[in-house]
Order: sequence, then C-alpha cells, then structure tokens
Amino acid sequence: MTGTGKPVSIALANCAKTFADGTRALEPLDLAIHAGETVVFLGPSGCGKTTTLRIIAGLEEPDAGGKVLFDGVDVTHLPIEQRNVGMVFQSYALFPNMTVAGNVGYGLRIRKVPDAQVKARVSEMLAMMQITRLADRRIDQLSGGQRQRVALARAIAVRPRALLLDEPLTALDAKLRDTLRLDIDSLLRSLGITAIYVTHDQAEAMALGDRIVVMEHGRVAQIGKPREIYQRPATRFVADFIGTMNRLTGTARDGVFRCKAGAVAWPEAPATATEILFRPEDIRVAGSGEAASLQGTVASAFFLGDRTRLFVDVGEERPLVIESTARRDFQHGEAVGLAIDPRGLLVL
Ligand code: ATP
Repeated sequence: MTGTGKPVSIALANCAKTFADGTRALEPLDLAIHAGETVVFLGPSGCGKTTTLRIIAGLEEPDAGGKVLFDGVDVTHLPIEQRNVGMVFQSYALFPNMTVAGNVGYGLRIRKVPDAQVKARVSEMLAMMQITRLADRRIDQLSGGQRQRVALARAIAVRPRALLLDEPLTALDAKLRDTLRLDIDSLLRSLGITAIYVTHDQAEAMALGDRIVVMEHGRVAQIGKPREIYQRPATRFVADFIGTMNRLTGTARDGVFRCKAGAVAWPEAPATATEILFRPEDIRVAGSGEAASLQGTVASAFFLGDRTRLFVDVGEERPLVIESTARRDFQHGEAVGLAIDPRGLLVL
C-alpha cells in the first residue's frame, strides 16, 4: 500500500542523542513542525543536523526520555519502513542495476501495488521531475543532476507523509544547484508535503525554508522565518553564519554612534552599544555632494557583472563589505564616503 499523502505534523520532544562512543550529537531538542511546512536545518558541519533528521526518519532513536510524534502519535520506536517518509540523500542511494523507471517504481512494487498502477504512477513522477525521456536509462548513464531528479521521483512515488532531504544538492555544481533548487521548491509547494531539508548552505535554506532552524554544537541557535533570521539574528553566531555582517566598534551617545571612520546618526542607539552590525545592503557609497557618515578607502573591488563587491577599509579589524550597483570602476586606494541606513543597524 502507498501512503495517503496527507501531510503530517511532526513534533520532537526532549530529543537528545548520545552515540555509543559518548559523542553528544544533540542536546535535548523540542520542535514542532506543522503539516505541509518546509523546515530547513541549517548549520556548520557536525552541528547535529543529520542526526536530528535521522531521528525523525526512524534511522536513529533518541536517548531515553525523547519522543517523536507524527500527528500526535508516538512513533519513537517505529522503524523507518513504518513511518511512511521519503528520503533523499546527497549520495543519491539509487539502485545502479535498475533503470530509472525501475528505481522510481521500486517502493511501489515492494508494497505490492498492481503493475498497471505502478506504471501510471511512475510516468506521473517522471513527468513531474521532467525526466520522462530518461525512463529506460541505467543510473550510471545519468548526470548528477539527473540522478538527483530520479531520487526525488523515487522518494515521492509512494506518497510519503513527509519528505526528508539530507544535503540533496551538495554534490552538484553551482548552476545545476540553482535549477534543481527551483524545481524542488515548486515540487514541495505543489505537493504541499511536510518537508525537512538539511543543508549547510544558507542561500539554499533561505530560498526553500518556510522556517529555518539554525543549529550550533547540537543546540538550536534560532528558529524563524528566513527574513527574521537574516534581519534579526538572535546571536552573533547566527549573524555571522547567515549572510555577510559588517561591524563597527565605537561608542554611542545622544543618538550618534562614533567610530574611527566617522559618526553614524542612529536615534535608537542603545547607550551601552560598543559595536554595531549591519548588512552590506544597508550601506552604500555616497554620491558626490551627498552627506557621508563614514570615510574609508577601497581595499579591493570585485566586479561581479550586476554589481561590484567592495571591501572598504575604515580602520576596523575587518574591512566593510559593500555592494555597489554604480556603473563605474572603483580603484584600489580610492577614498570613498559611505552612507548607512540606520534601519539596518543591530546590536547583539
Ligand atoms: P554534516 O553537515 O557534516 O553532515 P551534521 O550537522 O549533519 O554535519 P551530524 O552528522 O548530525 O552533524 O553529527 C553530529 C555529531 O555527531 C558529529 O560530531 C558527528 O561526528 C557525530 N556522529 C554522527 N554519527 C555518529 C555515530 N554513529 N557515532 C558517533 N558519533 C557520531
């Protein structure tokens, strides 16, 4: 039998994981994932993302006292075959001796679905993943991107209640990653399936996640919508891990933050602030005749086509990163005035 396809809500209660060798991979975690939601686990290597995903999948049990609930039902001790979840890994995990169609239909055949239905369902999945023309190819005759499409088609063919993806795009080159990311996004939206996606790539997390769970050393550092995580990071770790963050050190008084390179008007500046943070898009090179709050010199300029990424020395430990869309060249050592949008300023 294949699943009903009705998306499931997933809850983790007090889920910790200590491996046999004593490695503490996950500190006690509580997490509620809504039915139909895409939640991305994001964090550096070794922070416990995969372990959490494996606990949800039923490939790993949490330490005693931890519980996994699917629609409120305790599944903590149910193995993966009984949870009706689809999985996609970085390494594809396809059957090399079967055709594409054979791989996609595998889960249905072992569930004894009648042949005619398997055939219909396989063609539907191949069409959905735009790989109909590859149906009779062997896996070793496919590119990495095509293999990952087959893996996705295989995972959703059985109408799982949740789709679990562990770094599915990591092995692919940048351009392919972008295309497949778009396709995964539309796939998840059109299926309305509950999806949990593990990645260390913040752009992927921001693009796909309804919510992002940022993890650090086996703990949750922050949970929130991509925009919240980006604009209101809860900790320095989150601020640095996601996107680029500029820093200025100095002192705040009477609504002005003073640093080596100048003074930034910021009416809400907390009097205790000794460091302010802001994103590259909240600072720009001031035009001639325009008031600039800071003065700096261009340390490096990388022309990227649609914009120039500038590194501007302002006497701090690290240069400021600024994205300029101006149609002009910047010279190494050039003096520039800078204007900051105070709405983007943060203190952590
Ligand atoms: P990556 O992005 O590198 O896969 P991750 O965030 O997914 O990292 P996990 O794979 O969850 O991290 O690993 C968390 C920690 O648990 C790491 O320190 C890892 O070495 C350790 N670990 C994972 N599996 C085992 C195991 N079977 N036995 C012992 N330690 C393990």
